[in-house]
Amino acid sequence: MTDAAPITQDVLTIPRKLPEGPVNLVGLTREGLRAALIEHGTPEKQARMRVDQIWQWIYQWGERDFHAMTNLSKAYRAELADNFVIEIPELVDRQVSADGTRKYLVRIAGGHEVEVVYIPEEDRGTLCISSQVGCTLTCSFCHTGTQKLVRNLTAAEIVGQIMMARDDLDEWPRRGEGTGERPRLLSNIVLMGMGEPLYNFENVRDAMKIAMDGEGISLSRRRITLSTSGVVPEIAKTAEEIGCMLAVSFHATTDEVRDKLVPINKKWNIAALLDALREYPKVSNSERITFEYVMLKGVNDSDADARRLVQLIKGIPAKINLIPFNEWPGAPYQRSDWNRIEKFADIIYKAGYASPIRTPRGEDIMAACGQLKSASERVRKARRQVGAVPAP
Ligand code: SAH
Ligand code: SF4
Repeated sequence: MTDAAPITQDVLTIPRKLPEGPVNLVGLTREGLRAALIEHGTPEKQARMRVDQIWQWIYQWGERDFHAMTNLSKAYRAELADNFVIEIPELVDRQVSADGTRKYLVRIAGGHEVEVVYIPEEDRGTLCISSQVGCTLTCSFCHTGTQKLVRNLTAAEIVGQIMMARDDLDEWPRRGEGTGERPRLLSNIVLMGMGEPLYNFENVRDAMKIAMDGEGISLSRRRITLSTSGVVPEIAKTAEEIGCMLAVSFHATTDEVRDKLVPINKKWNIAALLDALREYPKVSNSERITFEYVMLKGVNDSDADARRLVQLIKGIPAKINLIPFNEWPGAPYQRSDWNRIEKFADIIYKAGYASPIRTPRGEDIMAACGQLKSASERVRKARRQVGAVPAP
């Protein structure tokens, strides 16, 4: 609107633009999107239908240009383009490991950077996304934990990581093609990147609801796994309000050791954590909880630990994911020997639990679990070493 345009009552009561500039539609819940459209002049009676249409364009077709939304009138498209944007984090670097793992560096508002990892497997592909820049927690074996929290990611920045990966994998359905015709390259999401998702609950919840919505990205709640270090009061809320699969960074079988490895244990100890976990599968209908257990030489990897672990989790539908420690420069631990890991796995397996050993992926590009850290200097250094594939 120019200065000379006549000011109508409509314009006075319904600001056509928020003072900060156009509103990003990405990351809004359906209700939020409806409210934003109405606030900017869409008649209430039409709002529901417009939400459905715009939602499908953004999340089903991956469209970013309002002018291409051909089932909307030209005038309405122009109005949308005046008031809104469809924005996701900017991909600034992509590295591809010898094993096909892709590590993306994305830039978000304020110039901060986070890492996102895509892990292709035979019959599926998992995207490991971040929920915070850095982390407030200081788990002693985790590289992210050595970095201070910069800020929480917004819902747009969280779901935007998924959209960015779908762009990179060229996975949006093509015109004239059904949405389910090609096998999905990006079929699973794990919230196991940087940050503690349950310290950014609302944004993570909204982003995951968008990812699960059947008229868009459409990932089943069983294909989304949220990993927490054990923020006990938020666990029940996760079951009620998100309902995805849950993984817990357990990592120790005594409070003494867990206090050192996962210091949030001093606030909510093993007993409190297990109480919350016992309730989880009932509330959320998820079958099993994944217990993550990082294998640290001489610290938590004895036969006695394995036996204690089995005792502790008795009665909880569980699988135990053993993670060989991924080293990073200056890390104070070493990876347990392979024989030790296998022996540990065997004790758990014989007690009746699945005990897969997680194969480290993308180690050559520092993309494995717990190696993410947004210090660009380190990323640049690693890039020089392995030879990067430039971002498209
Ligand atoms: N903050 C969340 C999710 C991110 S970490 C959490 O702590 O659960 C994802 C998983 O990788 C967690 O189980 C974490 O404990 C583990 N991890 C962190 N650093 C690691 C490392 N260097 N080697 C192996 N696993 C690590
Ligand atoms: Fe944060 Fe998770 Fe790393 Fe702990 S393991 S420091 S909670 S990212």
